[in-house]
Amino acid sequence: MAIHTASGQAKCPECFEGMTLTDVMQNELTQCPGCGAELEIATLAPLTLSLAPQEEADWGE
Ligand SMILES: [Zn+2]
Repeated sequence: MAIHTASGQAKCPECFEGMTLTDVMQNELTQCPGCGAELEIATLAPLTLSLAPQEEADWGE
């Protein structure tokens, strides 16, 4: 299985802070250095971010 990663500049969809991402994978989670929002890598080319889902994890354990 090929692993695709990307590096580059992306903007927070919440506060529009620019940040540099290095070797990130699609759907990887990261945190905005500007507003602290939890972000998910939406697409790699171009590199864009979306807000991570805020649902509480419930894995039934
Ligand atoms: Zn932000």
